[in-house]
Amino acid sequence: MILRNTIANGQLLLLLMLLYTSEYLCSGKTVSTEPLAVALPEPRAYLPDAQNLDFVYHDHEELTRFLRATSARYPNLTALYSIGKSIQGRDLWVMVVSSSPYEHMVGKPDVKYVGNIHGNEPVGREMLLHLIQYFVSSYNTDQYVKWLLDNTRIHILPTMNPDGYAVSKEGTCDGGQGRYNARGFDLNRNFPDYFKQNNKRGQPETDAVKDWISKIQFVLSGSLHGGALVASYPYDNTPNSRICRSSALCAMFQTYSAAPSLTPDDDVFKHLSLVYARNHAKMSRGVACKSATPAFENGITNGAAWYPLTGGMQDYNYVWYGCMEITLEISCCKFPPAYELKKYWEDNQLSLIKFLAEAHRGVQGFVFDPAGMPIERASIKIKGRDVGFQTTKYGEFWRILLPGYYKAEVFAEGYAPREVEFVIVEQHPTLLNVTLQASKRVEGVGAGGPSFYRPMQAPQHYRPGAPPYAAAASNDNGILSTISNGLNSLYSNIFG
Ligand SMILES: [Zn+2]
Repeated sequence: MILRNTIANGQLLLLLMLLYTSEYLCSGKTVSTEPLAVALPEPRAYLPDAQNLDFVYHDHEELTRFLRATSARYPNLTALYSIGKSIQGRDLWVMVVSSSPYEHMVGKPDVKYVGNIHGNEPVGREMLLHLIQYFVSSYNTDQYVKWLLDNTRIHILPTMNPDGYAVSKEGTCDGGQGRYNARGFDLNRNFPDYFKQNNKRGQPETDAVKDWISKIQFVLSGSLHGGALVASYPYDNTPNSRICRSSALCAMFQTYSAAPSLTPDDDVFKHLSLVYARNHAKMSRGVACKSATPAFENGITNGAAWYPLTGGMQDYNYVWYGCMEITLEISCCKFPPAYELKKYWEDNQLSLIKFLAEAHRGVQGFVFDPAGMPIERASIKIKGRDVGFQTTKYGEFWRILLPGYYKAEVFAEGYAPREVEFVIVEQHPTLLNVTLQASKRVEGVGAGGPSFYRPMQAPQHYRPGAPPYAAAASNDNGILSTISNGLNSLYSNIFG
């Protein structure tokens, strides 16, 4: 309701443009936006839960019941699926909220939220349940929500670590009980890492998320945590971070040497973090949680500048899949008493909604072959931004970019690479369709056999299968080497 009047002129324009786009490009794939089904399923005992979600913590059974009830009551707006199970057999539920819950809308982005990766940080878990509830109950009355759900598929994983939650204690503001999964692994240290070899054994919860994001091309993502009040953006790790095992001197040194580890999309990540912080009731004021903890200017920070970590989820999302994920620390107390949940919802509601709409900023389009068929897995790199991304099976791509002038390089095996120029404006996304011409056949190869197309060399920056830190260190031009060199000189200045 509070959002009803916040739709800006630019967003109306965007809405019109997206409607036009889907009509024009998707040839019959436009998703039905019929009103909610009149015939609701037979009422069941648990249905009232979907109408009135209390501000209390919900255990796994209650959470499951709420999600099932919601999907039964709002079948045209929600779909419930499980991406796998925790070690102790709890389902990792994902609820899609969209006017097309069961099918990807061609030309429109998929986005996600992940809550409770640390089991003892459950405010995000409850906020995501309330977000689901808000979306489904205000679709018909809130124009902004309607626009968002008509143009976006929002996947919500309220708890990535249900086993950890099960052993956490309400009212415990600090400490590690319940942080880890049932085998004692920190899931936000359990992903492959861009900078360092991560030798931690892959956990079922992490594997489920990796599999999930390999199948759906998410454009934008938020991971919800507690224990601080800040929006933190990649990279979390740096080429030179070191782990202090025992030495107090080392720990002190690390405190002073925590340098930012910036991505080539730093402007975009800062912007996304500011969208969350500024729409939050108090995050952007940058007030420290306690006197001993840092105050963050404008309520945002680079992850590594706060403290470097290996195996984090946000770096993995970005480097492997081009999905722009940030980490949202939304409560100073990790597990505050339930009576505070209503306040947390009031503080975060607008941020949670506005952040997702950022998926509609920047450039989007399709890559086609000369016959007008989509090219899957075409690689796209925005010049000057060495983390690339790929097209979906429909040939679609998205990239969040701030207003400006850009060049994109588009590659696909069997096709001649192309460079295209485009402009991004504030008011609406830029639509960019790229047609690639087949590359010349190689004469005389495989005589008598099938003809070969000259394979295009895959760009080096793309989806690192192997950790590229060695290459980064020897590259004199890359942003990574700049940071690396800066840190090296810092180390040698101090230790001589
Ligand atoms: Zn956390």
